[in-house]
This record gives sequence, structure tokens and C-alpha cells, in this order.
Amino acid sequence: MALTANLDGERPTFVTHLECSLTGERYAADVLQGLSAAGRPLLVRYDLAAAGAALSRDTLEGRPTDLWRWRELLPVRRTASIVSLGEIETPLIPIPNSAAPNVIVKDEGRLPTGSFKARGLVMAVAMARELGVTRIAMPTNGNAGAALAAYATRAGIETVVLCPDDTPEINVREIAAQGARVYRVNGLIDECGAIVGKGAAEGLWFDFSTLKEPYRIEGKKTMGLELAAQLGWRLPKAIFYPTGGGTGLIGMWKAFDELEALGWIGSERPKMFAVQASGCAPIVKAWEDGVEHAERWENADTIAMGIRVPKAVGDFLILRAVRESGGRGIAVDDADTLAAVDDCGRKDGLLLCPEGGATLAAWRKAVAEGWIDEGDEAVLFNCATGLKYPLKDSSVTLDKKNLAPLSSL
Ligand SMILES: *Cc1c(COP(=O)(O)O)cnc(C)c1O
Repeated sequence: MALTANLDGERPTFVTHLECSLTGERYAADVLQGLSAAGRPLLVRYDLAAAGAALSRDTLEGRPTDLWRWRELLPVRRTASIVSLGEIETPLIPIPNSAAPNVIVKDEGRLPTGSFKARGLVMAVAMARELGVTRIAMPTNGNAGAALAAYATRAGIETVVLCPDDTPEINVREIAAQGARVYRVNGLIDECGAIVGKGAAEGLWFDFSTLKEPYRIEGKKTMGLELAAQLGWRLPKAIFYPTGGGTGLIGMWKAFDELEALGWIGSERPKMFAVQASGCAPIVKAWEDGVEHAERWENADTIAMGIRVPKAVGDFLILRAVRESGGRGIAVDDADTLAAVDDCGRKDGLLLCPEGGATLAAWRKAVAEGWIDEGDEAVLFNCATGLKYPLKDSSVTLDKKNLAPLSSL
């Protein structure tokens, strides 16, 4: 039996072509594509009029609420290409005590492999399978590699994963445990990416780096689709997104445009806040400098590994979305991130990952600086389960033979 009724039977896809995000040049959708000739990400384009005729809001609302309910707005042609591990709709959790009553966390840690990388990789792997890829390589800070390993293994695709040698141990082991070959590299993620690119040029594998194939963004787009549906076809005032390569932010921005083209939402958009760590904030710096492309951030250093990305190939797409939305780039110190993780767990019972903690720290900064009001409806993205990261030990040891008075516990 299928994991989800949304995967029973074939559904049409309405993809028309791929488009260079920089030049607008058109590319065919039914063949394997990497970056455009201009070296920039390709975006998937749909016949949205036809998609809208095939799928109404009512039909959609009658379907089980997983990722595959959005099938008409996704690129996969054949259901048989999809390997699902149960990509559920993630919940919206208010955190009134550590933030404010109108602040909600979209908790992506509930997805397969414990992070929202599952959204992007279930899609990219399905398309790789559809287009005949047999070997994939990827640079990762941990979560993307884990999601790739899980889906590619299930799809029978061989996988090579390169991560910086200080990637959280649990991630490195998880990747191997799910069937990939994993290598620790004495460099940062872009340096791992350079090795992957070299192997791809030699024809050894297909390059699955962030935004270097067109379909991961389509999977991440479902965060924006889902959010609009969960809020009753409107969007919040502000979105705080922990920004590394930026696929999720770019994907959500695309989702909002597609929903507006379908007539399902209006033209209002949330302020998009791209959150980075002050030890690795290339997008924030480019935002502040008013430039279109970000320079590589040297000596990148933060505990929030998922956003330790010194250089992003989609930098201009992130910056464009942030500027058009009236949002901004916000850099937060690791100490504030850790305090936010601690507060949210202790006061609201929700364990955030460090990247999620960074969004709460950024929300606090935005309120303090007057960039938003405390009462504004804001959505923070917690993109992985906090359980994947080392936790501090606050326990006290008890000696069963020499107990202190229990009233003192
Ligand atoms: C990958 C990752 C991010 C950054 O996501 P992008 O869409 O690549 O910017 C944030 N948080 C966590 C936990 C991640 O794994």
C-alpha cells in the first residue's frame, strides 16, 4: 500500500520548461540539467493556468495533507519515480513564552531524516531517477547529505557525500547508516563542493550541490504552499528563515508567486528576514552594502552548521526576495542563538536546532530594533530536530546509597 493516498495513480505535471534565473534563457525540462550557461540556478516553470484548471482549492483541501497533495505544482511526471518516506505537513507551534503570542514555529524537524532537507531531496532524487541518474555526489554540512542518502539509497542510486571534518558526528554517521559513502574533508562546504564539481566534470557522478540542479528548490517550495494553506490562504506578516544556500527562502518566494498566479492568495507578501550567524553572514553583508551578489565569507565560524555557507550560488535570488519583500538580512551572535534555544526549550517545551534558535534570536533583534512589532504574526523556521545536535548537560548525579533529602530535589 502507498504511504499516502496522494501517491495513488498518475497525476499530470504542468511543467513547461526550465529558465535561467539570471538571464531568463529557456531550457528543456525533460533532460538532465545542472546550472545554466551563465552558471546560475535553473527555475522550473509551469503552465499555471492549466494547473489551476486541473486543481481547485477545494480539491486540494480534500486530499491528505502531505507534500504530495501539491502534485500538480511539482515537477515529477511519473508516480513510480517517487520514493517516499512519509513527507508529512509540518505543524505550526506557537511559542508565546519565549517570544510572543503571535509567533509560531514551523517545525520542520518532524520530516524524514529529521530536517527540511527531506523536502528538497525527495523531489531532486525522484527527478534524478526519472532522468536516469545512477550516481550522485554532494557537499553537505550534514542534514542535506542525510536526506540524500536516505532517498537515493531507497531509489537504488549510488551516493558519495563530502562533509567538512567538523560536521556534527551524528550527521556523519547518519549519512553512512543510510547507505551513502561519506568522506570528511579538511575544508568548508564550498571547498567540498569544488571537489564534487571536479568529479562531475570528469563524468564520475551527477552534481547535487544546493541549487546546482533545478528540482531541490521545487521540493522546498512546498514550505510556502503549505504555510499559505495552513493559515487559510493568507500569509504572515514576517518570515524568519535561517539562510545558508537559501533554497527554502527562494522556494517560498516562488511558491507565493505561483499561488498568486492561481488566484489562491493576493499580492501581499511577508517581510522575508534572511537570518545568518554573525560568524558567517555573507548575505547580510551584501544586503547591508546594497549589492546584488555576495562575496565569499572568510573564516566562517558558527555553531549553527546548517547556515555555515560562505558562498551561495543563488545569492542574488535571496537578496532579491528579501528586498522586494521589505525584509532584511539579520546576523545574530552564537551566544544569542544558544540563549534562544535554551529559552524556547525551558519556557515553551520546544527543542529548537541551533539554526532555529538563530531565527528566534533574530526575531528578538527585529522587535528591539523596531523592524517589526511584537504583535505582528511571525513565522520562524526550525529546519531540523534539536535532537540531532550536541545538547548541554544540566543533570545532577544522585548516589542511591547516600541519598540527599528528596525534598531538596
Ligand atoms: C540546510 C539548513 C539550513 C539552511 O537552508 P538553506 O535553504 O540551504 O538556506 C538551515 N537550517 C538547517 C537545520 C539546515 O539543515
